[in-house]
Amino acid sequence: MRTAAETAREDQMRAACAELDTILAKVAASAGTTPIDIPHDGWFGNQAKAFLDLFRAGNVQACRHVASSPTACMAAVWKPGIVVCFPCSAFALRAAPEEDNRCDRCRRHTDRIFPGSLPIGPVALAYGLCRQCSDDLGVRQGRS
Ligand SMILES: [Zn+2]
Ligand SMILES: [Zn+2]
Repeated sequence: MRTAAETAREDQMRAACAELDTILAKVAASAGTTPIDIPHDGWFGNQAKAFLDLFRAGNVQACRHVASSPTACMAAVWKPGIVVCFPCSAFALRAAPEEDNRCDRCRRHTDRIFPGSLPIGPVALAYGLCRQCSDDLGVRQGRS
């Protein structure tokens, strides 16, 4: 038997995942792209695992909006250990100047970053890749 609290939390989690889908679809639409299925293996799998390892170890700082209940939220490959709601992400996940325009995979500076996000449950794990890495991973889209 599940307790009512567990059921309520699962409902919240499901709602949070659905909310994230809606948000990602909106973000993609405003960028003139569509959400794509990101492979959950290889480099992306490693990023997801690193994030979940931090999360399970309790080494994650959340803004007060997501700390209380499951909600759609955002994390970033370039800022490990931080999970925040979308409004907070604008400043909480801003890249340090030396990280700006740096590819999260090959770590090279590039004039153009191709951003995207990997959904992990209700969390969108944001990343930025150079052209070469986006192509290598098969996730580049939009105008080049
Ligand atoms: Zn917040
Ligand atoms: Zn790269």
